[in-house]
Amino acid sequence: MLEILRRIVQDVGAAPDLSSALAITVNRIRAAMKVAACTVYLADEDNRSHVLMATAGLNPQAVGRVRLGHHQGLVGLVAERQEPLNVADAPRHPRFHPVCEVCEEGYHAFLGVPLIQYRRVLGVLVVQDSAVRQFDSEEVDFLVTIAAQLASILNHAILSGATQELLNPLNTHTRALQGVAGAPGVAMGAVTIPHLLADLDDVPDRLSQEVASEEAAFHAAIAAVEQELREASDRLAPLLPPTEQALFTVYRMMLSSDSLIEDTLGGIRAGRWAPTAWRDAVLARVRLLEQAEDSYLSTRAEDIRDLGRRVLQHLRAGPDQHPHPAAGRCVLVAEDMSVAHLAAVPPEQLAGIVCLRGSALSHVALLARAMGIPAVMGLGDRPLGRFEGSDIIVDGYHGRVYVNPDPATRAEYRQLMDTEAALTVGLGKLRDLPAETQDGYHIPLYAKAGLLTDIAAARDSGAEGIGLYRTEFAYMVRESFPSEDEQYQIYRRMLAAFAPQPVVMRTLDIGGDKTLPYFTIEENNPFLGWRGMRFTLDHPEIFVTQLRAMLRANVELDNLRILFPMITTVEELDEALRLLARADQELREEGWPVTRPPVGVMIEVPSAAWQTGQLARRADFLSVGTNDLTQYTLAVDRDNARVAGLYDNLHPAVLKTVAYIIENGHRSGRPVNLCGEMAADPGAAVLLLGMGVDSLSASATSVPRVKWAIRSFSHAEARELARQALELETARAVRQLLNDALRRAGLGEIVHESA
Ligand code: PEP
Ligand code: MG
Repeated sequence: MLEILRRIVQDVGAAPDLSSALAITVNRIRAAMKVAACTVYLADEDNRSHVLMATAGLNPQAVGRVRLGHHQGLVGLVAERQEPLNVADAPRHPRFHPVCEVCEEGYHAFLGVPLIQYRRVLGVLVVQDSAVRQFDSEEVDFLVTIAAQLASILNHAILSGATQELLNPLNTHTRALQGVAGAPGVAMGAVTIPHLLADLDDVPDRLSQEVASEEAAFHAAIAAVEQELREASDRLAPLLPPTEQALFTVYRMMLSSDSLIEDTLGGIRAGRWAPTAWRDAVLARVRLLEQAEDSYLSTRAEDIRDLGRRVLQHLRAGPDQHPHPAAGRCVLVAEDMSVAHLAAVPPEQLAGIVCLRGSALSHVALLARAMGIPAVMGLGDRPLGRFEGSDIIVDGYHGRVYVNPDPATRAEYRQLMDTEAALTVGLGKLRDLPAETQDGYHIPLYAKAGLLTDIAAARDSGAEGIGLYRTEFAYMVRESFPSEDEQYQIYRRMLAAFAPQPVVMRTLDIGGDKTLPYFTIEENNPFLGWRGMRFTLDHPEIFVTQLRAMLRANVELDNLRILFPMITTVEELDEALRLLARADQELREEGWPVTRPPVGVMIEVPSAAWQTGQLARRADFLSVGTNDLTQYTLAVDRDNARVAGLYDNLHPAVLKTVAYIIENGHRSGRPVNLCGEMAADPGAAVLLLGMGVDSLSASATSVPRVKWAIRSFSHAEARELARQALELETARAVRQLLNDALRRAGLGEIVHESA
């Protein structure tokens, strides 16, 4: 059975479209179970019915025509109970509903299994037989197993709109594809796939006698990719400091490798088609590198493969077709996204980001937020190429996208974008006003940064400094660990840009979804693994280099504050402080006039929260990282779109933990900052102010909205809001309380109800 099941799943997965997939399913199941009929009904939620969408054994004319009411017949009963229904003699069942078009007279045995994904009934899978008999447990298990697989395929089809096309072919209203809200805002543009990848493994074994023209095509493709890399690297200039552009140099070096070029030309001269000769030369190197145990070399294999695809794309496109995105607003769509992907589009053209994987707290989403680009994450598997060039709307508030939107949807979003633009202009007036409540209570509002390019946005936002500088982003866009001097340059620019305002620099926090291309860490549970301080304490040479660069950069500026991430024990903090003292001592001995900066601890793990007092006594300040604190408190992976609906920093358990941290931090006489994304949510910011937090760090684009919210409440009102919120039992109730409060205070425009 397992083998049959595997083959069915494989064939269904390879089907070109949903109706073929359903037809394959019913035919295969009917043959495998040796039953008279197998049928799939899909739930049509809009019309509250179940539609017969594929059958092997019943009248084929019924497909797409027979509709049963939501609760009608045995199919309705299966959907209602959400469990298998095994009936020996269906026509005698009180819920049996005869439908003349399907010609099911003579069928007695009935087994119906619901198709459920994420608690939602997507349809019902039915097998019928002529005898009066109960299906045995092996048959039931088989159908239940196949239903689970089919449900996941259906779920993808629903997300891509394919089921809607099948159920209601005449309905022209654009359906939203639902993902996860990544970065707030709304954008429109053309779907742009960063270098739509041609696959090397798909190149056929083809011969060609046109040696001269094949050689010319090959040289032209190499030149085009060289040019493309140069342009991409230039485009990165405003985005990254020059030292971080090494990635492109490495690519260009690989591209000019004599042996790669010579082997390809050799293949062409031996009579092979240029793409075939290129494929062979590239894959031979890839295989060699992949066999290497060394993780650095296996990473290079991926780089060569990537280069191979780029050249192949040009070879196949020919000299006239250029794969650059069209001029105009672009929405980058990719499975995963890196900073290098972002460079595929000139910054002034980049309107939005859609990432098929990941979630609101993935580093791509954090980058998008820092850049003020609306983003939707976790849309799930879907054929990327299909959408290339289509118009797309990105609704980063609700995590929705609309591909080829109809005029009404387009007009609705156009209006929303106009309103947003007007609001942004209006809020610009708050730039130089303090983040102060109506009764004069001032709470410092800082911006967050990850790259040097964030400096300008942070300054324009009216923030009072940088509350969290995530140093790992500078490590992530390079080809090797940066030297002390390279880091010094970056940190110095950051500190100088804000002095005398404070800049809180967090030491390297890699791991989780933040990986370094030159230091891969393979783990089953990366968020519970070697990340943040665990990694740096195991690599004191990397840690001390970073601390030295920070301390040197602070000389005579004196606005540095150092923050340690992912602390889970007191010993970790003691060790980190010891290494800081060592770096400080070394520099003094070398004659640097360094000063010891204030040192903070991130409280982002429940163990640290419960030891707030002990940690606070060893540090100068605390900073609550609600992004991780929420993930670890609720046991919800912040990077997993499947459980994104459960991730909520307004969960009462998270709020109670934050309240505990603030209380105990204050009891130890230490100020408590909050630097998770929660601080960028205007309602939550007022709540945190009421809970007693001493400062907030939000992304630069959110600073004006948060300031507006703070300036719209009195300190007493915020405290009362916090008192009420802490008594509520669900995140939904807290959200409702905050939204109501914002509306009453006249901030209805920034209340974006969740989907
Ligand atoms: C956090 O965890 O809240 C935080 C600010 O850190 P990061 O999102 O970089 O993990
Ligand atoms: Mg964190």
